[in-house]
Amino acid sequence: MSTKPIHIIGGGLAGSEAAWQVASAGVPVILHEMRGVRGTDAHKTDGLAELVCSNSFRSDDAETNAVGLLHAEMRLAGSLIMSAGDANQVPAGGALAVDRDGFSNAVTARLEAHPLISIVREEITGLPPEDWDQTIIATGPLTAPSLAEAIAASTGADALAFFDAIAPIIHFDSIDMNVCWFQSRYDKVGPGGTGKDYINCPMDKEQYDAFVQALLDGQKTEFKEWEGTPYFDGCLPIEVMAERGRETLRHGPMKPMGLTNAHNPTVKAYAVVQLRQDNALGTLYNMVGFQTKLKHGEQVNVLRMIPGLENAEFARLGGLHRNTYLNSPTLLDPTLQLTSRPGLRFAGQITGCEGYVESAAIGLLAGRFAAAQRLGHQISTPPVTTAFGALLNHITGGHIVSNDEPGKRSFQPMNVNFGLFPVMEAPKVEGKRLRGKEKTVAKKKAMTARALVDCRAWLGLAPAAQAAE
Ligand SMILES: Cc1cc2nc3c(=O)[nH]c(=O)nc-3n(C[C@H](O)[C@H](O)[C@H](O)COP(=O)(O)OP(=O)(O)OC[C@H]3O[C@@H](n4cnc5c(N)ncnc54)[C@H](O)[C@@H]3O)c2cc1C
Repeated sequence: MSTKPIHIIGGGLAGSEAAWQVASAGVPVILHEMRGVRGTDAHKTDGLAELVCSNSFRSDDAETNAVGLLHAEMRLAGSLIMSAGDANQVPAGGALAVDRDGFSNAVTARLEAHPLISIVREEITGLPPEDWDQTIIATGPLTAPSLAEAIAASTGADALAFFDAIAPIIHFDSIDMNVCWFQSRYDKVGPGGTGKDYINCPMDKEQYDAFVQALLDGQKTEFKEWEGTPYFDGCLPIEVMAERGRETLRHGPMKPMGLTNAHNPTVKAYAVVQLRQDNALGTLYNMVGFQTKLKHGEQVNVLRMIPGLENAEFARLGGLHRNTYLNSPTLLDPTLQLTSRPGLRFAGQITGCEGYVESAAIGLLAGRFAAAQRLGHQISTPPVTTAFGALLNHITGGHIVSNDEPGKRSFQPMNVNFGLFPVMEAPKVEGKRLRGKEKTVAKKKAMTARALVDCRAWLGLAPAAQAAE
């Protein structure tokens, strides 16, 4: 008896990888890609897995860089995107950069040549019909409007965002807690809270004035033409608020009311910046109400003016651009399946990851999960200690959904980074505790070594030493 096909909508980074993984498991695939019939605002060709902007897959260092680790895990899992990337590499120091046409042509050729894959050039304008019992939607940040509307209609009002107003996210261990303190405004406990859910950074008048001036003076990125989405008031960038008046921020996200500086209780702060826990591990904090379109280099300098954040390390910086993505933690199960419609999975940037490599990695997982389900195998998800698992966990469960600002979604797309992994202490070297940069590097090396061991085990591969024999 022939196996029923799995339908994949969207032949970008995620859809192409998903198709490859499904077919490699011996299951037929029908890949529906609209380019050739209808374009997007950013794609220029009809090739599958077209890179819309930069030609870089970022760092290829699997020992001390989280995206380099994800490359290594994807290679272990037989990734088409990585093998086409490796085959079309161009010189770029420690980064993996590719010849974009050579890369896209290679992906297209390999998918077209696979006997189990059929590619149909058509736009899918609504949710898949019922008889497509297994479907992966991988239509990306620029999902065609009619499909996006159908997804929004079936998942609920707050389920699909159409553009990102991103506030920066900071690694907890880079925040100076001798300056900042934990407290919720008016010590409000709220649902699931403790009354100490926020990190507060105090400012006196002089510091506030200097900060507002820096925002006004800072260089902003301009919206591209295709990004012409208007702001809505709940999402104004901080520099736009600063332009509306010097006191606007102090009456908005930087209001000092209901907060007492634990290090200096008798002095009332003039303004306070609040950070809220962003992941269940407690390793990442987002800056509340601090969406910004200041240029990235500028952002780092301006935000490090905030007391307690002088040495802040950013897991991601703020930005504003068009991006269609789901509120995945509330909608998807741990295998990327829509809980309200089993058999319908999502993959790629539409799930709330960010970046070419991350999108392809989530496509790889969705493809494997769908194929396992079709073949009647138990689905095994990657351990959270791996880059695959850490990213999947961010999308489907690791992010904390804020209860105290009803109507506001707090889940934001993210690149893979070490803040998404369970914490690991730096190993001692010759009985000595390491410090500073040495300690950070040792910690990252220990995390990536753990990840690769766990990834091999998850994939059923022999341990590295044995495999090398
Ligand atoms: C303008 C822009 C620039 C970016 N620059 C970078 C960058 O430099 N580096 C980086 O790492 N990331 C970048 N990203 C983010 C992201 O990593 C990429 O968008 C990435 O391509 C996402 O992969 P994906 O597979 O989820 O979506 P895509 O690669 O966009 O693939 C989605 C596919 O679905 C098709 N499709 C859409 N709707 C339908 C439909 N209804 N029916 C059939 N097919 C459909 C599209 O034609 C497309 O081929 C950028 C994003 C944008 C929007």
